Amino acid sequence: MVDFTFPPPTTVTLRVAGSSARFPVGRVFCIGRNYRWAPDEAAPTQMPAWFMKPASAVVPARGMLPYPPATRDLCHEVELVVAIGRGGRDIDPGQVEARHVWGYAAGLDMTRRDLQQQAKRDGGPWEPAKAFDHGAPCTPIVPASVCGHPRQGAIWLSVNGVERQRADLSGLLWPVADLVAMLSRSVTLEPGDLVYTGTPAGVGPLQPGDRVSAGVAGIGELALVVGDAPVPASGH
Ligand code: MN
Repeated sequence: MVDFTFPPPTTVTLRVAGSSARFPVGRVFCIGRNYRWAPDEAAPTQMPAWFMKPASAVVPARGMLPYPPATRDLCHEVELVVAIGRGGRDIDPGQVEARHVWGYAAGLDMTRRDLQQQAKRDGGPWEPAKAFDHGAPCTPIVPASVCGHPRQGAIWLSVNGVERQRADLSGLLWPVADLVAMLSRSVTLEPGDLVYTGTPAGVGPLQPGDRVSAGVAGIGELALVVGDAPVPASGH
């Protein structure tokens, strides 16, 4: 028996839709800009940027979503989430769906936009803007054996009943296979990794008490209420 100095962290898990099984979450990779935000936008010539969130940021996308500290500009980004079931490196894009994708979900890449803008100005890391507690709400994972590999279908988000984001998965500038292959050329992917595939136009701020509903057609829908802003630490 291993003599741990303290109990090791428990594995973060997500429900599997229609099953009592749990999906154990490893790491969270997030893709940068991957939809056209303007109709006349030129096709990209380079693969999108990517960044990470800790598995500890992943929470079920329901109930109350705490408003995080250290921001005055919490923003929503609804995204198709890819759940990796078999890892690898230098994965052939043509093998991604058949061999490596376990399932799909709908998720929110929550963003402290003010901290992201500061990081962009200062050339600083994005973690303060992206890698915070409760920063990656996610619906139950739908096995690809059930939902297939979606090529099209609505992705949308509303706040207090007013639609803010709506696009179609066919608008992904880089498809899932290319994104997973790209990541696997940079790091060895592992079972349990999640990939948030980028958000369509319409990102915007949330206020305490806002009711957020969102979803990806055929994959999952979510409903959340934004919690109260924390009382700032003394000295501010
Ligand atoms: Mn995003």
